Amino acid sequence: AGGAGQAPRVPRYVRVNTLKTCVSDVVDYFKRQGYSYLGKAASLEDVSSLSGKKFLLDPHLPELLIFAPQTDLHENQLYAAGHIILQDKASCLPAFLLNPLPGSHIIDACAAPGNKTSQLAAILKNKGQIFAFDLDAKRLATMSTMLVRAGATCYQLAHQDFLATDPADPKYSSVRYILLDPSCSGSGMVSRVPVEEENANLPERLQALSRFQRKMLAHALKFPALQRLVYSTCSVHQEENEDVVLDVLKQWEKEFRLVEVLPSWSQRGLATCAKAKCFLRASPKETLTNGFFVAVLERQPAGASGPS
Ligand code: SAM
Repeated sequence: AGGAGQAPRVPRYVRVNTLKTCVSDVVDYFKRQGYSYLGKAASLEDVSSLSGKKFLLDPHLPELLIFAPQTDLHENQLYAAGHIILQDKASCLPAFLLNPLPGSHIIDACAAPGNKTSQLAAILKNKGQIFAFDLDAKRLATMSTMLVRAGATCYQLAHQDFLATDPADPKYSSVRYILLDPSCSGSGMVSRVPVEEENANLPERLQALSRFQRKMLAHALKFPALQRLVYSTCSVHQEENEDVVLDVLKQWEKEFRLVEVLPSWSQRGLATCAKAKCFLRASPKETLTNGFFVAVLERQPAGASGPS
């Protein structure tokens, strides 16, 4: 997808797994492997001009390294040992922006195959509890192997519909953070070739996905101790992104508000939507990543009411 002359080629992003190693050790390792380290990227041009065996540190995410688009590290020793995770930059944003404190309880509502769960475990330093749900048994099995390899220990996997969880269950009474990364059209994924049938039925498909995503978000907001939630998709469609969040928030505006995060991120929500500045979008063209959407919601401070 995104053939020559169309979308710029997306670089390879490598997240350092701080449960097993640190950025300087990984940088030294790659230098020993003949790569040259150029330090922290100062501009998008630094990133888009990467070639050969050169690599950079990401300017937004302190544990993310950037390699040239053609780099394949699947056979690399550090990958096999769980020291690095091959995760696109945009998909590192949700856990980074949720930013839970070590020791916290978190729900990862749609967790498999688990890249974001392992990132959350690293942010928690394995202290706390992640309740991770998914409906797909095969993806959960892959996830389980990956989490063991990554050295994550602070999680419980549940082969369960998140919509069937009871927010009043005492088990979840300390859940302060929720990461909601529901199934979506996947239309932002650069490498994804859409099936013809998907395109033909796009409006109906988007409507169904959007209904599901609204249900998931509305359910997540019912958890009584929830303080902060991140909603994300790898879709470019407004119906799955701004529309979902703004619509659900209408019913919850006394309790929750959108927060403007990462001001240094250039690509925000669609300008035609309310609160556009509060949303983050990502795309091959503007951020040199896959297409992605992120919104951060926080509980209104006690006594506050109405939109912020
Ligand atoms: N967060 C994952 C990661 O970073 O690796 C990717 C999640 S993927 C976008 C969406 C996932 O939601 C799929 O694995 C799908 O099986 C799961 N899912 C769909 N409906 C669900 C539901 N009602 N409850 C829990 N999981 C669900």
